[in-house]
Amino acid sequence: MGKQSEILQNLIDSFAKLPGIGKKSARRISYYLINSDTKVSNKLAEAVTEAKKKLGLCRICHNLTENEICEICSDGMRDSSSILIVENFSDLYMFEKLNVHKGLYHVVGGLISPLDGIVPSSLNLSSLFLRVHEKKVRELIIGLNHSVEGDTTALYISEKLKDSGINITRLATGIPIGGEIEFTDEITLKQAFMERRNF
Ligand SMILES: [Zn+2]
Repeated sequence: MGKQSEILQNLIDSFAKLPGIGKKSARRISYYLINSDTKVSNKLAEAVTEAKKKLGLCRICHNLTENEICEICSDGMRDSSSILIVENFSDLYMFEKLNVHKGLYHVVGGLISPLDGIVPSSLNLSSLFLRVHEKKVRELIIGLNHSVEGDTTALYISEKLKDSGINITRLATGIPIGGEIEFTDEITLKQAFMERRNF
């Protein structure tokens, strides 16, 4: 077998760096793009460029948005006294799909994990505490994974707000221990939300 093109290797390596895509899939996607019409690859490249250029983070909740403030935060029909804390956009999307939470969100952008260098200041937490103090928030629902990192982050948040008088709840442990919200089925997640408990 001859030496593989560096350009091709670069393409495969780029796909392999994406979450959930292994070396094998990266190779398949790369071959597919090379073999398909130029329109297909152009469209993909344009979509990535446009998304990177036009999508930003909501100034309030750090959700993805094309505007300064996301659709959820600017929806006057939502209950601003209740904030659901999520790790990332995909978890926010999961909860929105369930249609159980009528309040707002706060995307913290990760979980505390000192070994990986993720400390509280690496996350969107100061903006959360500001929000909680400035607005009339009554309930804070911690919608983080039930993992060591999720527990550490939940504990940190609740400790910081223990004198605030806010009702802090956490999803019931219907979600398997160490399981990720993203991969939990809708019924289980809905149940975990409905049966949330005081933290
Ligand atoms: Zn927002």
